[in-house]
Parts: sequence; structure tokens; C-alpha cells
Amino acid sequence: MQYISTRQGADSAALSFEQILLAGLAPDGGLYVPVDLPRLSSGDLARLRTLDYPGVAASVLSLFVGGMMSDGELLALAQDAYRGFDHPAAAPLKQLGRDDWVLELFHGPTLAFKDYALQVLGRLFDAVLAKRQEHITIVGATSGDTGSAAIEACRDRDNLDIFILYPDGRTSEVQRRQMTSVDAPNVHTLAIDGSFDDCQDIVKALFADVPFRSGFGLSAVNSINWARIAAQIAYYVVAVTALGGHRPVSFAVPTGNFGNIYAGHIARRMGLPIDQLLIGTNRNDILWRFIETGEMRIAGVEPSFSPSMDIQVSSNFERLYHEVLDRDGAAVAQSMAAFRDTGRLPASHATWLRTRQLFSAHRLDDAGIEATIAAVWRETGELLDPHSAVAVSAMRAREVDAGVPCIALACAHPAKFPDVVERATGIRPRLPAHLADLFERKERINRVPNQFEAVKAFVAARARRRHAQ
Ligand SMILES: *Cc1c(COP(=O)(O)O)cnc(C)c1O
Repeated sequence: MQYISTRQGADSAALSFEQILLAGLAPDGGLYVPVDLPRLSSGDLARLRTLDYPGVAASVLSLFVGGMMSDGELLALAQDAYRGFDHPAAAPLKQLGRDDWVLELFHGPTLAFKDYALQVLGRLFDAVLAKRQEHITIVGATSGDTGSAAIEACRDRDNLDIFILYPDGRTSEVQRRQMTSVDAPNVHTLAIDGSFDDCQDIVKALFADVPFRSGFGLSAVNSINWARIAAQIAYYVVAVTALGGHRPVSFAVPTGNFGNIYAGHIARRMGLPIDQLLIGTNRNDILWRFIETGEMRIAGVEPSFSPSMDIQVSSNFERLYHEVLDRDGAAVAQSMAAFRDTGRLPASHATWLRTRQLFSAHRLDDAGIEATIAAVWRETGELLDPHSAVAVSAMRAREVDAGVPCIALACAHPAKFPDVVERATGIRPRLPAHLADLFERKERINRVPNQFEAVKAFVAARARRRHAQ
């Protein structure tokens, strides 16, 4: 399996999975995509139907890693990755109505769907680094959720250290405790006296400091890594095969960076019988506006009840754009430069029509989120978190194809957002057993000034990789 950047010319060389795993983002600013997609035959689907979650995940990954690991190694890795999940099915399917379902993707260590891919990604990194006898330093900024999922994925791995910056006093208490109570020698959190943007600016400056970046082997685990897309395909396969495996199924997905629903699109292109893919957005609705009007224009980010979807630019959309532009890397590069400069993507009418054939979109504001949580609780007894509510609302608003079931992806546990859920239902959701003592756990808080040099010195003093390497 070979990969190219979404911005590269037709004559540039393709890369291996191992290369794109460690690189994440391409040097030209593009995202990596496979040169050819593998296909799932009906025989494959019949076989996948007999496997458990780690078995499906390993089978899907084996189609993408191109010989980097054997099938046996991948299965062991996947079994280890999902062992700590607090449901035997890892991603259980629940029925809400005759054709309406919910897939629960919040049974991992940090209660959000990001665990399903990051638990695999951390182990893939470690395996490659061990083979190459290399050590890297992962640095990231978080406004809350991604930091804890990345920390849980990287903790106790021999070949990497992780440093996460967060704005002191501006995350929720659950989010802060999920990061600061982790007791692992390679995990470091920095409470920065500033905003999320300050944290992100310092991280960018660290990456821009070339001697520091190469000396400490800086790397990132953000949502543009293809390995995350590959790992996310697994739960689409699990859900479709659970409902038979041959009849078409639609999905409704709460969308921010477009990584989750894009994995569904790739699963469909690989031959999985998926009918509609419904994008759910909150008031930060750039994707909904694009599907409705054909114009993709950046607006300011506004805080909402579903903070993990509060974004301006959906970075994974570039992968779809590359596809609908018939893989013309030069045209993608031009469009993306214009998007950055003007705030408006110069998408043609034809590009818009092709995108609309593949996706429809639904928008839900905060009042709608609260009303959906209340209605679903009243009607079915299911407690939804605010992100999952956006998906369920999109599912309920779909144009119904008679007899085609639809699955809404429930991407976070309701106890991660207890205030909104309590206001909507009167019920304060409880943390699951593995986090029940979160508020008693000892925190290790490192307050660091909002200064580049202070953060640099903090990382340099604690990273296990040394310049000499
Ligand atoms: C990250 C996240 C999303 C958005 O997913 P994308 O892949 O960025 O579109 C939605 N809901 C929750 C709970 C998340 O953590």
C-alpha cells in the first residue's frame, strides 16, 4: 500500500505506511491518502461478521499497513488496544426505533470516540520506533478532549514521551483531572497561564524551532494521520455487519474535523453497503453551509454545548476535495492557498454537486441540542451527550429510505458533559466504574508561564531523547 499527499504532483514518489505514520502531515502541507483503496468483497464481509471488535480492527488495518506488521502482530496490537474498554463489544449497537440505532463509541479510557483510533495509533508508533530504535517527543495543545485521549494512548510507551499544554483554569474539571491524574513516567502536562490559542502558538513555535524539533524528534498525534482514519473504518464494518452485512445502512455523524465521517465514506468506497452519510454540525456550521449553498466560507468559532465540534476549518475535508477534483494535487494546493488567504474555498459548481451526492448535512444549535437530549430521554430512556444529540437529530431529520436502517454515532459519554445533560433531563449522569474515583485521584499539576522559553526548558529537562541521538 502506497500513499501520496493531496497536494503533490502526479510525478512525485509515493510513500510507505511506515513513512506516513510518522510524518502525519505531508511537508507540502497536504494530507496523505492511499494511491489505491482496498476492496471488501461479500466474502470478506461474511468473514468479518464472525470476528470480535479487535479482530475486525486488525483485519481492516492489515489492508493499509502494507507489510509493516504481520497479521498476527496486528491482532495482538488490536487486542491490547481494546482490552481496557469497559464494554465486551467495544462498540455496542442500541436500537432507538424501528429503523433508528445508536452506536456507542464512548467505552474507551477517556469516554470519547477518539480512543478507538488513538489507542491503536500510540501502539503503532511504539512498534515502528522500537523497530527503528528511535525515540520521539510528542507535543500538543488541547482545549480539553484530545489531550486526555492522546495521553491515554501514549502513556507507558517506551519509545515516546508526551507533553500536553492546556490553558490553566479553562478546561472542565473532568477534562483536567483526566490529564493530570495520569501517573506515567513519559506523560507530562503543562498548565499554561493563558488561553488555548496561546498554548497552540507555543506548540507551533516549538515545531518551527528546527534545531529543537530535530534534536528532540518532535511529533504530533493529531486528527490528520491516516492511521486514525484506517482504525475508524473498523466500527463502520462492525455496525454494518451487525445489521446483516449485505443490506444498506445509513450513518449520522457529529462532525468537526471531518475525520470520523470521512472514514465512513472510505468504508463505503471499499465496498461496505452504506447508503446515506449524514453530516451533523452545531452552530459552527461551515460544512452544512457548503452542502446547502455550495459556498465554503470561514466564520468565527463560537462556543457551543458540543465543544469538540467547535472548529472553523475541517482539515480532513481536503481528502474528499482531492477525490472530487479527480486527484489533481496542483489544483488542491491552489484551492487551499486561496482558502487560507481569502477565507473562501474556490469550489466549482461540479465539485459541489459531487459532494452533495455523497453527503447530506443537518445543523443543530444549542437549544436544539438540549431539546433533542430531553426528547430522546423521554421517548427511549437513552441519555445522549450533546455531540451524540447532534447525530441523533440528523438521523431523525433524514429523508427516510423505507427499510434502510440508520445508525447515529454516539461519540462521547453523557457524563463528560453532565451540566447540559442534567439541565435537559434532570438526571446527572455518573462516570463509569473505571473513572468513578477520578475526583479522588492525586493530580500532578505543573504550572508553566505562558512563555516559549519556559515551555522549551520544561520539555528539554524532561524528554528522554537527547540531542546527541
Ligand atoms: C472529535 C469529536 C467530534 C468530531 O469528530 P471529527 O472526526 O473531528 O469530525 C465529535 N464528537 C466528539 C465527542 C468528539 O470528541
